Amino acid sequence: MNSELRREYLAALGLACWTLRTRGALAPEPFAAPEPFAAPEPFADARAIATSQAREAGLDWPELRARVAACTRCGLSATRTQTVFGVGNLHADWLIVGEAPGAEEDRKGEPFVGRAGQLLNSMLHAVGLAREQVYIANVLKCRPPGNRDPSPTEAAECLPYLEQQIALLKPKIMLAVGRIAAQNLLHTDKTLGNLRQQVHRFGAASVPLVVTYHPAYLLRTPTEKRKAWEDLKFAREVCSRV
Ligand code: SF4
Repeated sequence: MNSELRREYLAALGLACWTLRTRGALAPEPFAAPEPFAAPEPFADARAIATSQAREAGLDWPELRARVAACTRCGLSATRTQTVFGVGNLHADWLIVGEAPGAEEDRKGEPFVGRAGQLLNSMLHAVGLAREQVYIANVLKCRPPGNRDPSPTEAAECLPYLEQQIALLKPKIMLAVGRIAAQNLLHTDKTLGNLRQQVHRFGAASVPLVVTYHPAYLLRTPTEKRKAWEDLKFAREVCSRV
């Protein structure tokens, strides 16, 4: 990606004033922050997160997709337009996990579309990743009516699908975007501010998991984009060590 394009993506993050520092042709160090970011020892405070048993264990991608499409395990099946399974590269190193589909995702059947999706794309590009290089999914595959928070029961019923997606994908890193996704994945009620800038672990494979803000929140609160940028650099650093 050329420097002009990168500047455009940083501009989308509200970080256009930062300078470019190139390290290599294929994986350049995209941007130098005003204050050098010192990543903590990635796994020093890692926690193993127990997850429910993967009820979908053994299913391949097409089987899993078909099971999700037909799922009526929770009440959200009655109000969805369609399930939103996930999208992306089946050999991706990065797995991006959001909360649940919104209205536009429910209509289109794809996670992170619309303005929030465009900002997510810009966030990924800022660390040298194209949307096509990652896999994107949600904790829940169906839209909660009115975009309400999913209930613990709904999240628990749906999580095995994500667990099997992770088992098939074998990502190097998971990026949980938004408080609801982070809290459900980590089984905690801690605030997002308390969860970011740490390496958590998810599931039996202890996949490193980093938390950041949801792009929809960043659209409402652009002053937090700088923190999101720090989180993405942190995640990139963690991924480079896996
Ligand atoms: S949210 Fe998940 S568990 Fe509930 S109906 Fe949709 S796919 Fe099934």
